[in-house]
Amino acid sequence: METDISSNISLIRQRIEAASARSGRDPRSVRLMAVSKTVAPERIREALEAGITLLGENYVQEAREKIPAIGHAAEWHMIGHLQTNKVKYVVNLFDWIHSVDRLELARELDKRAGQNNRRLNVLIEVNVSGEESKNGMEPDAALELVRQVSLLPNISVRGLMTMPPYSDNPENSRPYFQALRKLRDEISAAAVPNIRMDELSMGMTDDFEVAIEEGTTIIRVGRAIFGKRL
Ligand SMILES: *Cc1c(COP(=O)(O)O)cnc(C)c1O
Repeated sequence: METDISSNISLIRQRIEAASARSGRDPRSVRLMAVSKTVAPERIREALEAGITLLGENYVQEAREKIPAIGHAAEWHMIGHLQTNKVKYVVNLFDWIHSVDRLELARELDKRAGQNNRRLNVLIEVNVSGEESKNGMEPDAALELVRQVSLLPNISVRGLMTMPPYSDNPENSRPYFQALRKLRDEISAAAVPNIRMDELSMGMTDDFEVAIEEGTTIIRVGRAIFGKRL
């Protein structure tokens, strides 16, 4: 079966509107990112034609091949785990990095961004579930990392990102989304200079409506747009 990317996107937009209405939010406060890992450039272009303005990739090697081929009509967001020795490849490809989980990585991003006259938006990735297999830092250490990253001139802290444990019931994600939002509010209250805490990157194909109810500002949707990954 062919996947009709443009009708998938319209359907998601309707679901964003409905979930926003239910929770008294302006649907424009929720940005839809199309997660295009493993998706070929022709199909990514279809998503762009259907109005997508944010694209997410997970793997550096794949991004190095695809992003130059597609260009920068949309904002590119790095959402996968990032090794420090790969940072030199990503600073010119991506506008946002969602997976900053250690100071060493932030320092390297700052250094390479500076060398390339770039300024990158970053989110701090937090492991709110404490699951060992998950990337992201401990919630208790997030404020201290934000303070340290706030001193780096070429990267701007914009908020937090999380990925809850896999579950087939979207309600199981709710406590983790609530925990991320609470942590965001605590960090905001600390009034660290030179940062913003406006963005919450949370919610994927199976749980984005719950994430909207819990305050997400960026939902990262792959399969509901492009179909099952091979
Ligand atoms: C793959 C991926 C997504 C998208 O997942 P879907 O379930 O296909 O919507 C979102 N965020 C991250 C970090 C991912 O790795």
